[in-house]
Amino acid sequence: MTKMEKSYKTVWANCLEVIKDNLGEDNEKLYKTWFAPIKPVQLENGTLTIEVPSAYYYEYIEEHYIDLLRKAIKLELGPKGMLKYSIVMDQITPITTSAPSTGKQAVNNRPKDIPVNLNDGSQKDMPNPLVFPGLAKVKIPSQLNENYTLENFVEGDCNRLARSAGYAVAKNPGTTSFNPLLIYGGVGLGKTHLANAIGIKTKENHPDKVVLYVTSETFLQQFMNAGRDGRTNDFIHYYQMVDLLIVDDIQFWANKAPRTQEAFFHIFNHLHQNNKQIIITSDKAPSELAGLEPRLLSRLKWGLSADLQAPDVETRMAILKKKLENEGIEMSHEVIEYIAYNINTNVRELEGALISLIAQSSLNKKQITIELAKQMIDKFVKSTSREITIDYIQKVVCDYFNLPVDSIQSHTRKREIVQARQLTMYFAKKLTKSSLAIIGLQCGNKDHATVLHACKTVANLAETDKQFQCWVDELDKKLKD
Ligand code: ADP
Ligand code: MG
Repeated sequence: MTKMEKSYKTVWANCLEVIKDNLGEDNEKLYKTWFAPIKPVQLENGTLTIEVPSAYYYEYIEEHYIDLLRKAIKLELGPKGMLKYSIVMDQITPITTSAPSTGKQAVNNRPKDIPVNLNDGSQKDMPNPLVFPGLAKVKIPSQLNENYTLENFVEGDCNRLARSAGYAVAKNPGTTSFNPLLIYGGVGLGKTHLANAIGIKTKENHPDKVVLYVTSETFLQQFMNAGRDGRTNDFIHYYQMVDLLIVDDIQFWANKAPRTQEAFFHIFNHLHQNNKQIIITSDKAPSELAGLEPRLLSRLKWGLSADLQAPDVETRMAILKKKLENEGIEMSHEVIEYIAYNINTNVRELEGALISLIAQSSLNKKQITIELAKQMIDKFVKSTSREITIDYIQKVVCDYFNLPVDSIQSHTRKREIVQARQLTMYFAKKLTKSSLAIIGLQCGNKDHATVLHACKTVANLAETDKQFQCWVDELDKKLKD
């Protein structure tokens, strides 16, 4: 051991003593996490260089322990003593940075201070991240659900923007302006499916890219475990190696997990700076994600926020057909239509209804008929407090009069169509909780006064015209059936 070597080692060892003494509560764990992995590398002109395992480390130490470090360095090297960091990065970007021990401005100065590559290969011996052995050799499994492909993700007005953004991202991950891509929407509308699908497509387009899907909950759990085992740094490193990172259901972190959010913030920055793609999903719009750390939230708004809406009846039908096709099951158009019209909450429930129906029919060896579908949906939907939809009323009324469903939307003044429209409005008012304004909107973009007028007209006609009364009764029966 040379004299020079000894002295920088001694200086750092003495600093560590000071640090240990001053860490306060929980000191052993903190010491193990943040200081034990640091290696002293050089002492020159009163500047001690220490090697930290990642940029995240450096930032964390600067943020939380700068005063302590300053104190230790001052004690060891006198008032002019300086501290310099050498950051061991993963293979992507080896950098060195220096920071005077006298303040946090070092963080801001960082870009200017990245001249020398001190990466001498020592990181090859670095402890592995979450899996043994050896970081460089770790193959990151994508954790993607292979059934959730883009081909299986039916397109509709409700998801067009998000879906096409997904295609663009999968083609050029990290280099479109959709970075991060934030997909948000209510439960069961396809966020997880779409996020996975983009991951799968990216893999197809770029087989050598590292894609990683993780739920925010798993991420949090891993982060906590890593902290407990003194391997926070490995954890951060692991995530920084990824080319496309998908974090599902980020709203889970709201109002909790500040440290997890902080770690993710650093990972996010690293990935974004290195043109790596990030995809986030959330069941809330960014404006409603107030429980997240503001600086993280502001990052999420950098790219594109695309929402998923509830699918319209045509898309619901297309989704059902796609599922049936994938399962290799045949079902009559009538039954598909019946399900699509009656389940309008979200895609998960739509699928649930379909699966129950298929199960029913195969268990009881019954044909899948419209009657079976009705029975099943009645049971199914009762448990999820069903409401008759305006779509469904339109369909029943149009079928009854042998009119095409979209005629209700048309502007024609043909008597039979006007009547069908008025009947639809009447039943929508009677059987749904929708406001007059919504009913009008869905029945050919009329205003609420038109709806009110229609309801009165139907009531009057039913009193004076026997034939009309008969129609109303029959329709009423059909709708409640
Ligand atoms: P979320 O994550 O928004 O709660 P999921 O992605 O889990 O919803 O979707 C719920 C179910 O609905 C999944 O089985 C998914 O395959 C299906 N699904 C959602 N949207 C579509 C779509 N556009 N095409 C086909 N299947 C869909
Ligand atoms: Mg989901």
